[in-house]
Parts: sequence; C-alpha cells; structure tokens
Amino acid sequence: MSRRRIIAGNWKMNKTPSEAVALCAELKDLVKNDAVDVVYCVPAIDIVPVVEAVKGTNVIVGAENFYIEDKGAFTGEISAPMLKDAGVTYIIIGHSERRDIFGENDILINAKVKKAFASGLKPILCCGESLALRKAGTYAEWIRRQITWDLSGVTADQVKELVIAYEPIWAIGTGETATADQAQEVCKMIRDLIAELYDAATAEAVRIQYGGAMNAGNAAELLSKPDIDGGLIGGASLKADFGQIVNA
Ligand code: PEP
Repeated sequence: MSRRRIIAGNWKMNKTPSEAVALCAELKDLVKNDAVDVVYCVPAIDIVPVVEAVKGTNVIVGAENFYIEDKGAFTGEISAPMLKDAGVTYIIIGHSERRDIFGENDILINAKVKKAFASGLKPILCCGESLALRKAGTYAEWIRRQITWDLSGVTADQVKELVIAYEPIWAIGTGETATADQAQEVCKMIRDLIAELYDAATAEAVRIQYGGAMNAGNAAELLSKPDIDGGLIGGASLKADFGQIVNA
C-alpha cells in the first residue's frame, strides 16, 4: 500500500488574521500539488479567515488546540464541534510545547485523541524525546510509552486515519535536524509499535511525519525514507520555503 504524503504547517502563535490571509495568498501557487495533503494548522482566531482564503485550492485547514468538552463553562477554550463547524479537518494533539509549557499529560492527550475522532476531526498526534533522553539512549522506550498511553482505547479503524508526528524536542525550533537515518529509525519503530498494538494492516496505513527544523534544504532526504510519510513544519511553514517542502 502506498501512503499519501502529508505536509502540515504548524503556524504556532504567529500571524494576525490579516497577516494569515496575506500568507495564504503568498503561498497559494507555491503549494499546488495534488499528490500531497497540504495542511495549514493555524491559531484559532485565524481559522475562519484562512478557511475562506484557501477556498478552491488544495489546502486543508487544521487547528492547533481544543478542549475535550463540547460546550459550557470553560472560559478561554474552544471545542471540537466549533472547529468542525468552522471548516477544520486536522487537529494537532500532544505537541511538545503544549506538553511542556501548558502541562498537558498523556491522560489528557488520550482524551483529546478520542474526542477528536468522535467529533470527526483527524488528529496529528505528536510524540518525541528531550535531548537528555536522546543522550541517555532511552528515547525508544519514552516514545513507545507516549504512544501506548495516547492511543489507549483508540480503535484500529481510527488509527488508520491517524497521523503521528515524530518530533524530537531537541530539533524543534533549534535549527538542529535529526539526520534522515535518525528520523527513519524512530518512524519505523513507531510503525512497528502500531503493528504490535494493532495489526500489520493498521501499521501499513498509519501516516507518520517527521518534525523538527525541516526546511527546503533537508526535506527531500527526510521524505525519501520509507517510513517518513510527511512533515510537520514550524518555522519554514511561514515562508515561501513551505512550497519547496510540499514539492520536495
Ligand atoms: C514544530 O513545532 O512542530 C516544528 C517542527 O517546528 P520547527 O519546524 O520550527 O522546528
């Protein structure tokens, strides 16, 4: 089975609504590629204008965060039905910035994965190790534990629709990329884990991205690896380079 490549931008807390619309216009012709799923995961306030700005193009809109309840007294939060109604398809869950800065743990992340599927959103589930765990050589156990927790109670049919992003924390926003071999090693390990937790067909279907300083210069090599089905891109998603990654 050949998996469809997915290149997703994580805009993080960047771009006002008018800047977001301008970026969509700048990237419009650069990201044209019908063989690839192209996703812009944007700040909540940019979702409505970005959905409007990408109408008629190949771009799919994603969000960066939500809360697990549908509605109610949760000041400052945004729900999965709100995202769905606004035209969102993908949702980033478990990004290291949410884990580390906002204290999200694997119990909440697991609840978010299940809620996203129940609401018709497709999760991009992030996992990855710190520099200390990489140096200690215990990164594989760490990532196995994260994914096993985060997918508890998630069905094989759901995992076939899931995107997993392997994002070594030491390579996020640092300019230091994992080598293509390092990234491939972990992405293969994740696919083998999915086979162990589910079955071979589910492991064959799940799409696994690499994320961490992917850019126009290193994307082609990373994406040539057999278990790397795409990229989750931070910094380089905010500029014309994103088009080169989509077409790498
Ligand atoms: C990210 O935060 O998801 C990311 C991969 O960032 P960057 O590409 O800037 O390293």
